[in-house]
Amino acid sequence: MELKRCARCGKFYASDVEVCQECEKKDLADLSKLKGFFAENYVSGVSKGEISASTGISARNLNRYLSYEEFSGIYITDGFNSVNENSADEEKISL
Ligand SMILES: [Zn+2]
Repeated sequence: MELKRCARCGKFYASDVEVCQECEKKDLADLSKLKGFFAENYVSGVSKGEISASTGISARNLNRYLSYEEFSGIYITDGFNSVNENSADEEKISL
Protein backbone atom coordinates (compact mmCIF):
# COMPACT_ATOMS: atom_id res chain seq x y z
CA MET A 1 0.00 0.00 0.00
CA GLU A 2 1.20 3.47 -0.74
CA LEU A 3 0.67 6.66 1.18
CA LYS A 4 -2.04 8.78 -0.37
CA ARG A 5 -3.61 12.10 0.30
CA CYS A 6 -7.31 12.06 1.08
CA ALA A 7 -9.32 13.73 -1.68
CA ARG A 8 -11.76 15.00 0.90
CA CYS A 9 -9.88 16.22 3.99
CA GLY A 10 -6.29 16.28 2.73
CA LYS A 11 -4.98 13.96 5.43
CA PHE A 12 -2.34 11.41 4.50
CA TYR A 13 -3.33 7.80 4.88
CA ALA A 14 -2.32 4.38 3.68
CA SER A 15 -4.89 2.70 1.54
CA ASP A 16 -5.74 2.01 -2.05
CA VAL A 17 -9.01 3.93 -2.04
CA GLU A 18 -9.47 7.60 -2.86
CA VAL A 19 -10.29 8.96 0.59
CA CYS A 20 -9.30 8.13 4.17
CA GLN A 21 -11.44 5.89 6.37
CA GLU A 22 -13.23 8.73 8.14
CA CYS A 23 -14.14 10.38 4.88
CA GLU A 24 -15.15 7.13 3.30
CA LYS A 25 -18.20 7.08 5.57
CA LYS A 26 -19.06 10.65 4.63
CA ASP A 27 -18.55 9.83 0.98
CA LEU A 28 -20.91 6.90 1.24
CA ALA A 29 -23.56 9.08 2.87
CA ASP A 30 -23.11 11.74 0.16
CA LEU A 31 -23.24 9.17 -2.59
CA SER A 32 -26.46 7.70 -1.32
CA LYS A 33 -27.96 11.22 -1.22
CA LEU A 34 -26.72 11.82 -4.73
CA LYS A 35 -28.16 8.57 -6.03
CA GLY A 36 -31.43 9.38 -4.31
CA PHE A 37 -31.44 12.75 -6.02
CA PHE A 38 -30.87 11.18 -9.43
CA ALA A 39 -33.57 8.61 -8.78
CA GLU A 40 -36.20 11.12 -7.66
CA ASN A 41 -35.40 14.62 -8.89
CA TYR A 42 -33.17 14.23 -11.89
CA VAL A 43 -33.95 16.20 -15.02
CA SER A 44 -31.64 16.19 -17.99
CA GLY A 45 -29.32 19.19 -17.87
CA VAL A 46 -29.69 19.86 -14.16
CA SER A 47 -26.80 22.02 -12.98
CA LYS A 48 -24.26 21.04 -10.38
CA GLY A 49 -25.37 24.05 -8.35
CA GLU A 50 -28.90 22.70 -8.14
CA ILE A 51 -27.67 19.28 -7.12
CA SER A 52 -25.39 20.81 -4.53
CA ALA A 53 -28.18 22.96 -3.11
CA SER A 54 -30.59 20.08 -2.99
CA THR A 55 -28.28 17.45 -1.51
CA GLY A 56 -25.97 19.61 0.61
CA ILE A 57 -22.93 18.09 -1.10
CA SER A 58 -20.11 20.60 -1.60
CA ALA A 59 -19.09 21.60 -5.11
CA ARG A 60 -15.70 20.02 -4.70
CA ASN A 61 -17.02 16.67 -3.56
CA LEU A 62 -19.73 16.74 -6.17
CA ASN A 63 -17.17 17.16 -8.93
CA ARG A 64 -15.27 14.20 -7.58
CA TYR A 65 -18.33 11.94 -7.49
CA LEU A 66 -19.48 12.98 -10.92
CA SER A 67 -16.19 11.86 -12.38
CA TYR A 68 -17.02 8.33 -11.26
CA GLU A 69 -17.84 5.82 -13.95
CA GLU A 70 -21.27 5.09 -12.51
CA PHE A 71 -22.42 8.65 -13.19
CA SER A 72 -20.80 8.97 -16.60
CA GLY A 73 -24.08 8.56 -18.51
CA ILE A 74 -25.80 11.41 -16.70
CA TYR A 75 -26.05 14.77 -18.40
CA ILE A 76 -25.31 17.61 -16.00
CA THR A 77 -24.47 21.20 -16.78
CA ASP A 78 -21.46 22.79 -15.21
CA GLY A 79 -22.84 25.99 -13.74
CA PHE A 80 -22.90 26.49 -10.03
CA ASN A 81 -24.81 29.77 -10.15
CA SER A 82 -26.97 29.46 -13.20
CA VAL A 83 -30.69 29.28 -13.01
CA ASN A 84 -31.97 26.68 -15.41
CA GLU A 85 -31.94 28.72 -18.63
CA ASN A 86 -32.47 25.77 -20.91
CA SER A 87 -35.67 24.59 -19.34
CA ALA A 88 -37.59 25.41 -22.53
CA ASP A 89 -35.91 22.39 -24.12
CA GLU A 90 -37.61 20.15 -21.62
CA GLU A 91 -41.13 21.20 -22.52
CA LYS A 92 -41.57 18.84 -25.42
CA ILE A 93 -43.65 16.22 -23.67
CA SER A 94 -46.83 15.46 -25.60
CA LEU A 95 -49.75 13.49 -24.27
ZN1 LIG B 1 -10.18 12.22 4.73
